[in-house]
Amino acid sequence: MSQAEPDEKTMEKMRKFVESYCAKSGTTTHPGEGVTEAVIKGLAHNKETLGRPLCPCRFYPDKQEEVTHRTWICACDDMQIYKYCHCLLFVNDEGMPITEYLPDDHEGRQIYGLVKDPTPDKGRPLRDKAAEREIERRERPS
Ligand code: SF4
Repeated sequence: MSQAEPDEKTMEKMRKFVESYCAKSGTTTHPGEGVTEAVIKGLAHNKETLGRPLCPCRFYPDKQEEVTHRTWICACDDMQIYKYCHCLLFVNDEGMPITEYLPDDHEGRQIYGLVKDPTPDKGRPLRDKAAEREIERRERPS
């Protein structure tokens, strides 16, 4: 059975959020057709069913428990610390996620190699939290 379509109002709210977060972080949405809309739909669905826009690109053993942490609430910790978007929602002009600030052993670095940040003066408001994030990534993988 396919999941219920999110309400258009929720979709519109998420589209506005994405537009403003792109501007704030100096990123852009993916140039590939349908990529952005699919991620927005996943975020809107989670907002309606869980109350928060939990990242739709991850697996969680317990979604309801996961929303009690802020780690994967969009814009997630990896985005706010490293400017890295797992879902390819916030990317550079070529549709590549920024990996420049990720630790070397992070999956994003291993998949995409080194992708420089075209707008280093923007985004990463939680950049000082990298040490805490790395402890969490080891101890509470999700
Ligand atoms: S990876 Fe992070 S920034 Fe990207 S869609 Fe998921 S929660 Fe949002």
